[in-house]
Amino acid sequence: RPEGYATVSRDITERKLAEERLRQATVDLLDANGRKTRFLATLAHELRNPLAPLRTGLDLMQLPGASQEALGRARAMMDRQLRQMVHLIDDLMDIARIDSGKIELKRERVALGTIVGAAIEGVMPMVEAAGHDLAVALPEEPLWLDADPTRLAQVLANLLTNACKYTPGGGRIALAARREGGDAVIEVRDSGIGIPPDALESVFEMFSQVSQNIGRAQGGLGIGLALVRSLVQMHGGTITAASAGAGQGSTFTLRLPLASLATAPAARPDGSE
Ligand code: ADP
Repeated sequence: RPEGYATVSRDITERKLAEERLRQATVDLLDANGRKTRFLATLAHELRNPLAPLRTGLDLMQLPGASQEALGRARAMMDRQLRQMVHLIDDLMDIARIDSGKIELKRERVALGTIVGAAIEGVMPMVEAAGHDLAVALPEEPLWLDADPTRLAQVLANLLTNACKYTPGGGRIALAARREGGDAVIEVRDSGIGIPPDALESVFEMFSQVSQNIGRAQGGLGIGLALVRSLVQMHGGTITAASAGAGQGSTFTLRLPLASLATAPAARPDGSE
């Protein structure tokens, strides 16, 4: 009976669909578990790494005959290691806050140039240590945003830090901004190792790291860009990555809505204009 066949074949199709859904769910779960395990291993590694140089530094400081110069170098090294650890832990705490919806933007009307200045000040020591050349090009007219300046500076500092990390010493890094219609478009470009085409999307995912990067030697947890993307989206913006391929450098393009000059500035925390 035709109806009978129809029912059977529909049952089979539905069962196949259900099996396929189950298979995909299993793959996703294993994938997520794998990433979590890798993340925990990397996290342990990243937290453990700075401890050995800190121990060495402390030991050196207790050596009776240590020269002032050696002591100065040890102090600078310990300072660097501690900063890196604080940065790592801050990123982790931010990710936890974003996951639980606890990050709030403190928006105010602010010129993009101010934010760029703050970000560059933070990364300059790293840029100089690597011998990179950093070029900044901003338009003459100020680009006004209703944004959280601390958070946006964190976004730009993160992109500039990555540009430093994934570019062999003596490279070129450029930050350029322009106005495009109602948006500010900011590009962070480097002359570094580049990103393979199939990883351009996934670099923004939590815990994702392109393997075999020379950058692995630089450490990192694969959470920086996930944090960057969340913060940009909270500002109503978008971020994309582009790269012409291995060794061809990378470009991160950020698009943020400009403050509408017709509306009153977002209230400043202190109530001033
Ligand atoms: P990480 O802590 O590993 O730097 P991120 O989330 O900041 O984590 O970046 C994720 C991955 O994206 C990095 O591990 C690296 O493989 C790749 N990546 C990020 N920025 C760049 C860049 N400017 N050039 C090349 N690869 C990059």
